[in-house]
Amino acid sequence: MTESTTNLAAFDAARRVMPGGVNSPVRAFGSVGGTPRSLVSASGPYLRDVEGREYVDLVCSWGPMLLGHQHPAVLDAVHAAVDRGLSFGASTPDETRLAELIRSIVPVERVRFVSTGTEATMTALRLARGATGRNLIVKFAGCYHGHSDGLLASAGSGLATQALPGSAGVTEAQAAETLVVPYNDEAALREVFAVHGENIAAVITEAVPANMGVVVPNDGFNQFLRTLTAKHGALLIWDEVLTGFRATATGGWGLSGEPEGWAPDLWTFGKVVGGGMPVAAVAGSAEVMDLLAPLGPVYQAGTLSGNPVAMAAGLATLGEATSNPEVYATLSQRSEQLQQLLSEALTGAGVDHSIQTAGTLFSFAFGTSATGVHDYAQAQSQEAFRYGPFFQTMLDHGVYLPPSVFEAWFVSSAHDDAAMERIAAALPHAARAAAA
Ligand code: PLP
Repeated sequence: MTESTTNLAAFDAARRVMPGGVNSPVRAFGSVGGTPRSLVSASGPYLRDVEGREYVDLVCSWGPMLLGHQHPAVLDAVHAAVDRGLSFGASTPDETRLAELIRSIVPVERVRFVSTGTEATMTALRLARGATGRNLIVKFAGCYHGHSDGLLASAGSGLATQALPGSAGVTEAQAAETLVVPYNDEAALREVFAVHGENIAAVITEAVPANMGVVVPNDGFNQFLRTLTAKHGALLIWDEVLTGFRATATGGWGLSGEPEGWAPDLWTFGKVVGGGMPVAAVAGSAEVMDLLAPLGPVYQAGTLSGNPVAMAAGLATLGEATSNPEVYATLSQRSEQLQQLLSEALTGAGVDHSIQTAGTLFSFAFGTSATGVHDYAQAQSQEAFRYGPFFQTMLDHGVYLPPSVFEAWFVSSAHDDAAMERIAAALPHAARAAAA
């Protein structure tokens, strides 16, 4: 390929060799229009494209870049790991260190590393089925748990963005084993358990849903899930791929009545746990996790699982996040500041909206001030058509937002005053574009 000097040329070249020109659908800007930016480098809170244009990054690689791009501690650790070898296909001390670090933050006893959040949730389902001998899984409409077959029904994220109910290629048998329930709906859950309780292996939930935009669990909803699943002998799978080590220092867990001492059976992590490298994990009690091979009958494996370079990035990222109190203090401060700027700009332009907040995570939805957003139906009923012009105007003013209205905005501890000023200057223009 000759070096492309424009985003359009780069996208055209990409479309000739990759479906839609991308390796993950939302990157194609399908719902917001315009030409996807072809990125060549990133530093701190900034991204740079092939045209040399710089953007304040509010995607942060969809969550992993908690410390911003090229954080010195992470780079040093990765460079040192690279110098020792890229991959061994065998155990390393850093895997144990990262598992120990995770155990020191959340109440899990065993950790199995994989490479993507999809693998983590897929493994959690298999474990739940292996542990209970049951087939059915309950998930919530609008929650996204990766792209494994059984979890694509009514999923948020890219499927919400493209308004897809599910995916072709998923067999009816697989779809039939996933029961989909509206989020925050205790009555619907009770009903599902009343009918299918003996066959339900697990309920899987995002610790705080953030793939239909952020949706805050009703008070007591997560505790209700714990009680209901325990009563029926089903497991509770707690997906923290997006929220883990980001929504708070202890992830969504930190927002969910942790002091009352309840715990899910299985957890999944991803994104921040790898600091920008392909790392995810399934974790939980020794009793359930030790059902995994080689100890137990539930098989799971990975050529690149626990890759040493990826482990180094995860260890350095989580190490910095847990040892430097500034990290979460800055994330909170920047998140609050952003929400205030966003709300001021939209209100100033007369654009009806609501903002949903969970720790440092937030998202907004057009035309929802009367109701807020408590489930997928409300998320989908927003005036999503306003987001394209809003997004494009922010991009024109040097701010890179998620190219979908159904995503949270991700900040990092590297977002400084200069980055915030650029966002503040752009927002009133974008709000006016959204009002039109
Ligand atoms: N679970 C949640 C809550 C997610 O947000 C995601 C991805 O966004 C996944 C699972 C899947 O992770 P991955 O994209 O690494 O497969």
